[in-house]
Amino acid sequence: MRAARTYLDYNATAPLRAEARAAMLAALDVFGNPSSVHAEGRRARAIVDEARASVAALVNADPAEVVFTSGATEANTWALSAPWRMIALAGVEHDSVRAPAAQLASERGAIAVELPVSGDGAVDVALEGDARGLLIALQLANNETGAVQDVVAAGLMAREHGAELHCDAVQAPGRVAIDFRTLGATTLSLSAHKIGGPKGVGALVVSGNAPLAPLFSGGGQERRRRAGTENVAAISGFGAAARAALRDLAEAGRIAALRDRLEAEVRRLTPEAVIVGDTAARLPNTSCIALPGTSAETLVIKMDLAGIAVSAGAACSSGKVGRSHVLAAMGLADDVASSAIRVSLGPETTDDDIAAYLAAWKRICGGASLAA
Ligand code: PMP
Repeated sequence: MRAARTYLDYNATAPLRAEARAAMLAALDVFGNPSSVHAEGRRARAIVDEARASVAALVNADPAEVVFTSGATEANTWALSAPWRMIALAGVEHDSVRAPAAQLASERGAIAVELPVSGDGAVDVALEGDARGLLIALQLANNETGAVQDVVAAGLMAREHGAELHCDAVQAPGRVAIDFRTLGATTLSLSAHKIGGPKGVGALVVSGNAPLAPLFSGGGQERRRRAGTENVAAISGFGAAARAALRDLAEAGRIAALRDRLEAEVRRLTPEAVIVGDTAARLPNTSCIALPGTSAETLVIKMDLAGIAVSAGAACSSGKVGRSHVLAAMGLADDVASSAIRVSLGPETTDDDIAAYLAAWKRICGGASLAA
């Protein structure tokens, strides 16, 4: 018998992995303060160090470059907190990048430049002349459409013109390989709960030349870059999830095949469906499906009642479903944007999950129209 529910909302959050859970439970019994010099403290420090090495390996960074935070929102906020003279970003960035960028412009007088986005979600980064004092924020992959950006090219350009690059890589681990060195980013943010770790922990990977002052001062934790006693259990779960996510890369082909099958069948069942961004480089796990003339909210609720968890736009605050700023930035027509749902697969997704999705889709959308 199939499980009653089919979870296809991995871009919102992933189920806690067994190995992350086990690591956290073990760490809960290690009560020492990682900053203490005695044996109890050293045991806690060893857990944090092991996790740091695992997170560093996930993105090919040096462990000393990994600073643990309370998640990617803090990591993005921190990366954008330096006194940048100018900031360039596209409308497809996550709110946790857009909001601190807007603050930088309104409160600190930074010049904000909006980067153009194509209809399939590709961001166009072009620089001219001396760009010192400029921070480019460019996500590695989009949470709503899965569009993968050419961060390597942006990094090269940034270096050539004296600019710095911040990369929100939250949606990429386990789906595409990440190499902090090759990306040429000054800073890169990660979040544990998107890869099967716990919520409320993440990291900012910081290269040596980043002009960042700590967001919190106090104790000297994290090499004086982030004060506060480390959340040892959560960090331990993050480390275990990072090791597992690295192994997931071998599964990317299987996941892409499941996603492609889902899209092909959706097109067959509902020829009017639009797969947003399918002509651009995309994550293997993400599908943004619009059925013009229908309402995404209604569809998400009907799918939920049929046992399928998907989302409309980004599910970030208290169940709010607003107009997607990502799809608006891509210039999509209102009837496409307002009917788009996001289906996102993960390492636990099976053939049966796709079959369950398609059966529900056929029942709910095949032939019948959903009131907009
Ligand atoms: N960036 C992206 C692209 C995201 O998808 C998310 C989570 N929705 C975040 C940042 C914020 O991460 P966190 O939940 O760890 O604050």
